[in-house]
Amino acid sequence: MTAERIVYMDHSATTATDPAVVDAMIPWFSKGYGNPSSLYRIARESKTAVEKARSQVATALGAQPDEIYFTSGGTEADNWAIKGIAFANRKKGNHIITSAIEHHAVLHTCEYLEKQGFSVTYLPVDETGQVRISDLKDAITDQTILVTIMFANNEIGTIEPIAEIGKICRERGVYFHTDAVQAIGNVAIDVVAMQIDLLSLSAHKFYGPKGIGALYIRKSVRIDNLLHGGGQEKRKRAGTENIPGIVGLGLAIERAIARMDEQNKRVSALRDRMLDGILKNIPNTRLNGHPKERLPGNLNVSFDFIEGESMLLLLDHFGICASTGSACTSGSLEPSHVLLATGLPAETAHGSLRLTLGAENTDEDVDYVLEQLQKVVIRLREMSPLYADHKKRSCNV
Ligand SMILES: *Cc1c(COP(=O)(O)O)cnc(C)c1O
Repeated sequence: MTAERIVYMDHSATTATDPAVVDAMIPWFSKGYGNPSSLYRIARESKTAVEKARSQVATALGAQPDEIYFTSGGTEADNWAIKGIAFANRKKGNHIITSAIEHHAVLHTCEYLEKQGFSVTYLPVDETGQVRISDLKDAITDQTILVTIMFANNEIGTIEPIAEIGKICRERGVYFHTDAVQAIGNVAIDVVAMQIDLLSLSAHKFYGPKGIGALYIRKSVRIDNLLHGGGQEKRKRAGTENIPGIVGLGLAIERAIARMDEQNKRVSALRDRMLDGILKNIPNTRLNGHPKERLPGNLNVSFDFIEGESMLLLLDHFGICASTGSACTSGSLEPSHVLLATGLPAETAHGSLRLTLGAENTDEDVDYVLEQLQKVVIRLREMSPLYADHKKRSCNV
């Protein structure tokens, strides 16, 4: 039996493109196909559309339009920021600071740079998933050229103390990059007030299309190119522009910011009701991440005695889309590096479920997921030898 009903609670993996955004993109596939670098009317129209989107992104961040560069997504923006700063500033120093809970687009880039002779400090986090400011202060040396710490975590939803980190980096003369892919549309961002030098974003995480993102680079930041080729994006990012994607990104970010307060209120209320229901109805469960400083739609819960992967399979059977660990690591049995960094034992990390709520979720969705999840957990625990042991032990005392 396959469920008719689909309840999508994996908004941190990706989101459905807003129909208004799709509508705005469509003409740029057909009539508006001109290459913005060419010198005739349909090319100029493409160029105007790109510049409009650049302003929309700049406005959303409190940046200037000429500080916004379009990329193929969050992964490219992270790679560009980190490698670009490292290679342009290696005469100044070879030390980079990041956190243990970054997305792989940041972590694997840092690991690559270690092979190229850079030295990287991976800051630990506390049990809520936040970096400690004192650890950051202690880690900065006269060799440090870059601090890259995410705005909000994709697995546990924890929001990092970005303004404090920005202040310290500016005081110490170190560039500060933040992967804000999960934060856009969920947290108010002002790159000037928060003293951010570089910021990555990706449209498909806020109801825009996949395969398009941007990097904010503050004026005067010294950065190398990642891609070499044509002179697009003021000679900083080669490749013919993805016009429909860029138009979609511009409108999606404008709409995400416009509805942010109202949507956050609604989604966090649904999320809180779901959490209360889980903790009340299912014993031996706990919330992972920060109790308050977290993304409005994020719920990450550990269920003792069972495997997250088995939960996902059964939930999928009921039409519920969720994840365990992160989307990139699910399918492998490696426990999430994020949950381990918050101090969870590997077996607890294995039994974690991430439900990320978003724009289209309703009260009925929450009721449905609560009902199915309770059944799934009971069924899996009945089959779990660990749970049988636990029951035996609790009877003996
Ligand atoms: C999704 C995600 C990325 C990668 O973005 P893509 O556009 O899919 O390449 C990077 N960082 C974080 C925190 C993410 O959630």
